[in-house]
Amino acid sequence: MHDHRKLGRELDLFDTDPLIGAGLPYWLPDGAAIRHALEEYVREKERRAGYRHVYSPVLGKRELYEISGHWSHYSEDMYPPMVLGGEQVVLRPSLCPHHALIYRSRAHSHRELPLRMAELGGMYRAELSGVLGGLTRVRAIQLNDAHIFCTLDQVAAEARGALELIREAYQAMGIEAARYRLSLPGPGGKYVAAPEKWERSVALLTEVLDASGLPYEPAEGEAAFYGPKVDVQVADNAGREFTLSTVQVDFHQPEQFDLRYIGSDGAKHRPVMVHRSIIGSVERAVAHLIEQHGGAFPAWLAPLQVAVLPLTDAEIPEAEDFVRRCVALGLRAESADPSRGSLGARIREARLVPYQAVIGPKEAANGQVALRLRDGSRLGPEPVAAVAERLREQCAAP
Ligand SMILES: [Zn+2]
Repeated sequence: MHDHRKLGRELDLFDTDPLIGAGLPYWLPDGAAIRHALEEYVREKERRAGYRHVYSPVLGKRELYEISGHWSHYSEDMYPPMVLGGEQVVLRPSLCPHHALIYRSRAHSHRELPLRMAELGGMYRAELSGVLGGLTRVRAIQLNDAHIFCTLDQVAAEARGALELIREAYQAMGIEAARYRLSLPGPGGKYVAAPEKWERSVALLTEVLDASGLPYEPAEGEAAFYGPKVDVQVADNAGREFTLSTVQVDFHQPEQFDLRYIGSDGAKHRPVMVHRSIIGSVERAVAHLIEQHGGAFPAWLAPLQVAVLPLTDAEIPEAEDFVRRCVALGLRAESADPSRGSLGARIREARLVPYQAVIGPKEAANGQVALRLRDGSRLGPEPVAAVAERLREQCAAP
């Protein structure tokens, strides 16, 4: 595997600037193209699975996190409050409290449950400067997050559904889970005290994992402060494991925020919150994709999907036409003309691009292009319209 920090710079995907600050990477156009494709994929996948998306601000009053429990259990990882007009405002350490308030802002009937609320939103962690680097230890995080508000009876099915979304996304991204972990509280940690709730959540997640047939290991001391979780672990280039995706069952925050729904009996009941993330943060997900694929991304994620290579200067107009045709179909395509070197040199330069479309004098005269794949295999010349259409299908997100 590759080191994403080194390759990320070599491939012009992301970088940092001391004036912006450590742990605050910016995304260059090629990196932004990968991120955009990934974000669109996740939103579409969630939409089809019955999630509805919201936007919420990255700031909140200190009081919000006192209610959620972050202030007493998690403040070491939070940015210090900013004082604004006599109030203390903090950069949020998670999206959960905002989503709980959005849920609470409207009355809900049992018929609306499970209510699945998703957001690709910013959150912040006050990581120490010594541990910052690349995209895996950052101070500003874009999280693929969702909260499912549901009845106790619905928790297991929702957790199972989330694990299935994770499995499908990993397959689409060409990555693999190293391990599933049932993360439990440990001795002496900062956890909310509610023994019977912990027992119920652990029992629910254990039931889901056992029924899934996935191998997993319990790990003490890895739970969130408000509840246990299933962590999907992946390994980096040095063999170190980190958590990418999670599914959590939470009885704590619904109580803290006094969340309710009206049951079929007409009375008020407390929903359960299932927290889940399919790809985790986009920073970690892209770091892992870089390490896994060494820059040869699956076609739907590749920053450049089609490199168009005219054999000589005479075919430049046809090459530019083909680029326009591909771009109009939503593909990321560019031409590399002979001023950039011999055909062989340009093919080598484009070796990470999933499709290379070569146009020589014969192809130009016949309205054709000849495709070359990343593994070096060559397809015969075919009409431009048919090739462009096939490329559109093959580069579409799964
Ligand atoms: Zn959450």
